[in-house]
Amino acid sequence: MSAKPYLKQFPDPQGYYGEFGGAALPPDLAAEMTKIERAYRTIGNSHDFIVRLRDIRTHFQGRPTPVYYAKRLTDAVGGARIYLKREDLNHTGAHKLNHCMGEALLASYLGKRKLIAETGAGQHGVALATAAAYFGLECEIYMGEVDIAKEHPNVIRMKMLGATVVPVGFGQRTLKEAVDAAFEAYMKDPETSMYAIGSVVGPHPFPMMVRDFQAVVGIEARDQFHAMTGHLPDHVVACVGGGSNAMGMFAGFIEDPVELWGVEPLGRGTGELGDHAASLRFGRPGLIHGFTTMTLADDDGNPAAVHSVASGLDYPGVGPEHAHLFAQGRTRLAGATDEDAIRAFYRLSRLEGIIPALESAHALAFAAELAESHPNDSILVNLSGRGDKDLDFVYTTYPPQDWA
Ligand SMILES: *Cc1c(COP(=O)(O)O)cnc(C)c1O
Repeated sequence: MSAKPYLKQFPDPQGYYGEFGGAALPPDLAAEMTKIERAYRTIGNSHDFIVRLRDIRTHFQGRPTPVYYAKRLTDAVGGARIYLKREDLNHTGAHKLNHCMGEALLASYLGKRKLIAETGAGQHGVALATAAAYFGLECEIYMGEVDIAKEHPNVIRMKMLGATVVPVGFGQRTLKEAVDAAFEAYMKDPETSMYAIGSVVGPHPFPMMVRDFQAVVGIEARDQFHAMTGHLPDHVVACVGGGSNAMGMFAGFIEDPVELWGVEPLGRGTGELGDHAASLRFGRPGLIHGFTTMTLADDDGNPAAVHSVASGLDYPGVGPEHAHLFAQGRTRLAGATDEDAIRAFYRLSRLEGIIPALESAHALAFAAELAESHPNDSILVNLSGRGDKDLDFVYTTYPPQDWA
């Protein structure tokens, strides 16, 4: 008898990946999650749903996105061959549309009228506002005031797309508070609205649904890489905020003898609580936003203040499946500081003509390190998004005359 494939084995029927995951929610919200889960398992697996999603991916999103051999980067680093999965070329400029179109398609099957979500860098908000426009749904996006100031272009894009952007002005005024505010709004009206989470986080079934919708990245990349080289990469590298781009990529290689590296944001590089957002490296098991995972908590057990130069990575938790895979030794942990990411940002821009998102720049920074120490290997990096949203911030805070 052959073992059940990993992706069929996890999560278990209660939404657990080992000790992580689950859905710890008030009864009315738990009932909504059960409804969404049932719908996902039936509708989401139906022929009609699968055909429609495939059609959307091809004709609206522009999939498959290419895998690109970064020759000048490889030569400059002087080690392993570096390949990029170009999720920056996915419509809206990042991997997030992959799960947003899936979630919005499910919402439309369920007869929902409104999509509600939080956003950090604004990428999830833009992707969801895009999906809402496509399906003719209302869209309400909660965003911390700090992020609104930092990610102005994405705020404008959401408004252009017809979404309502709700500023969140309490606490640190970033992603964590935006999640709290969005959840609260959803709890007021779970019948006609659907919460569309931005990563492989939150209560079951979201980590599973988002992983499954993102798996297209890893499945495509595996085929493409094999077609280009005749073998599989030795290493796969992705940045980990909540962990959706990493989980989508890892899903394609989970049964293969390939090293899977998750790169967390080490921020200012001190290792002090508040200076980073590396939940797997520095966190402890705990409960956050209705699920169990590795979390960064303060002395009172509340989600801690976190920092990363990349807004999309500053979350004091991580997807439960990443906590599980890391605890099992299936995935490996790496990190990059703000400064590492900035250097990688300029390096890719100058050497390859590709301006990466600051989030993706964390993966690129680590991939270069790995390449130097493994000269005979090949490395596939998930380039999760493009850097247009970060241009003003990088140009003023880390000007090219000092950093490029
Ligand atoms: C949001 C975002 C991330 C981080 O989210 P994950 O769920 O960890 O993938 C990474 N890269 C880009 C470009 C993003 O927009």
